Amino acid sequence: MNIIKYRTHNCGELNKNNIGQYVILSGWIHNIRNFGYFSFLDLRDRFGITQLKINKKIYNSSVLNNESIITIKGTVLERSKINNNLYTGKIEVLVNKIKVLNDSKKTPIIIANNKNNENIRLKYRYLDLRREFLTKNIIMRNKTYIEIRKYLLNLSFIEIDTPILSVPTSEGARNFTVQYRFDNKYSYSLSQSPQIFKQLIMMGGFDKYFQFAKCFRDEDFRSNRQIEFTQLDCEMSFINYDEILKIFERLIIILIKKFNGENIRRIKRITYKKAIAKYGTDKPDTRYSLKFTNITKLVFNDNLKDKIKNKKETIAIKIPFYFFKKNKNIYKSLIKTVQKHDIKIKDLVFLNNNKNKGLIGYKAKSHLTKQLKKNIKQLVKASKKDIIVIFFDQNLLKLGQIRKTIYKTLRPKLNKKIAPLWITKFPLFKKVKNKLKSVHHPFTAPIPEHIKYLKTNPELVKSQSYDLIINGIEIGGGSIRINKKDLQKQIFRILGYSKTKMKVEFGFFLEALEFGTPPHGGIAFGIERLMSILTLEKDIKNFIAFPKNKYGIDLMCKTPRKIL
Ligand code: ASP
Repeated sequence: MNIIKYRTHNCGELNKNNIGQYVILSGWIHNIRNFGYFSFLDLRDRFGITQLKINKKIYNSSVLNNESIITIKGTVLERSKINNNLYTGKIEVLVNKIKVLNDSKKTPIIIANNKNNENIRLKYRYLDLRREFLTKNIIMRNKTYIEIRKYLLNLSFIEIDTPILSVPTSEGARNFTVQYRFDNKYSYSLSQSPQIFKQLIMMGGFDKYFQFAKCFRDEDFRSNRQIEFTQLDCEMSFINYDEILKIFERLIIILIKKFNGENIRRIKRITYKKAIAKYGTDKPDTRYSLKFTNITKLVFNDNLKDKIKNKKETIAIKIPFYFFKKNKNIYKSLIKTVQKHDIKIKDLVFLNNNKNKGLIGYKAKSHLTKQLKKNIKQLVKASKKDIIVIFFDQNLLKLGQIRKTIYKTLRPKLNKKIAPLWITKFPLFKKVKNKLKSVHHPFTAPIPEHIKYLKTNPELVKSQSYDLIINGIEIGGGSIRINKKDLQKQIFRILGYSKTKMKVEFGFFLEALEFGTPPHGGIAFGIERLMSILTLEKDIKNFIAFPKNKYGIDLMCKTPRKIL
């Protein structure tokens, strides 16, 4: 048997130091340029591109097709025309043998250009993956795994797998079910997250666990969401929530530095309550300011009582001058923005801090006394050309949406690329259609001092929970868990679980809580979202080798398929 040696080097490796060497390379034909006696061919693999020079007497390159895979032998020469964009740009390989290993038909997507409709890209994903930017992203994902492993293993974490064929874990989505082969009345649930198992791992004595866990959530289809995704899942025993945040703050800072370049010293923490009060959302994008200043009391004490009918909030938002310096129609833009959110002009005043301009807005002058204006300007720390928008009697969450639209409309230059933030102390429950639901999941521990309200006013109870938000996107979250059976049962009862449901679905788990469960807590981060934030690339599909489209369909394998 003739044993072929496919390569002595890869396509991104040769440089001036290799001049004169006889080399073997294998790869895909990226493109071919034919000139008189010679043709030039770019040979590509995942490491890069090397230029080949082929004498027509050796091989007639015009019969070769792009994307065919070939092996060549030849000598490394210095290039006369240097290409500084390529690592291999100072050399080329003069070919004296060439063998086609597998010919390629005309490909439905051109690898060398990145423009293609998404359906074609997903259908021919294996071709799409040959593109440089996707190759880079997938390699970066792998490097992120390595970096995370290094950090956690160094802190004595243990990597443990948990089942995918599992039980529902109440993460809030619908379950994918898989029929049991011996009896189709029974089914497994695909794991929505390893939540229960990671807690059982703590009960099993492994006090620091992590896993790159596949999670399956049958959620509503929205752009930038995948029904199958990966989570960095972690759990620790004998730990409090401050310690958890510190461990993972350091990890996130390392990853941001390594993959984004930004130097972050600390990740600020704010409570859920403060986030809503300052930004009207629990996922604030803090790359830009536009914070809320609550002037309800100030206004109420003035002569504007008539404007506060619904007893909601009156909020001032300062729009700094640099947000709109090039926008000549700033007031028009702002009015359009707020109207998109159904705010009436009569519920709004623009206060311009420039003395010459004064006030703009509906009956502004008659509504605001001189003293009130002065107080507001002072309170929001407005400088001369800034505009202050005052929203009377509004819902904070709605204003949170408006804050976002103002940013999107004006698009000021940002001085931070990455703005991470911890949101802490979420309420334990939220009311949905008159029923209480967990804000995180039912295993989240309440703040100890709030346990007493569980019986009387559960909606008041705050939890020992936290989310990591970066640039307005939730990247991760977790909590300290309940480690006592009675408290866990009480939470299940508040959530409306019947005795039977508790027994059937969580009996084993409740029993486990009776055998010496250590205090524990954990966190999980969405890997794809983290990647997309680190690279500031929007589409999470660009970090998944084989993603599904936005309807959960794999266009390449054509699945889901009809059951035959
Ligand atoms: N299991 C939670 C989730 O997947 C994370 C956690 O609480 O650790 O969102």
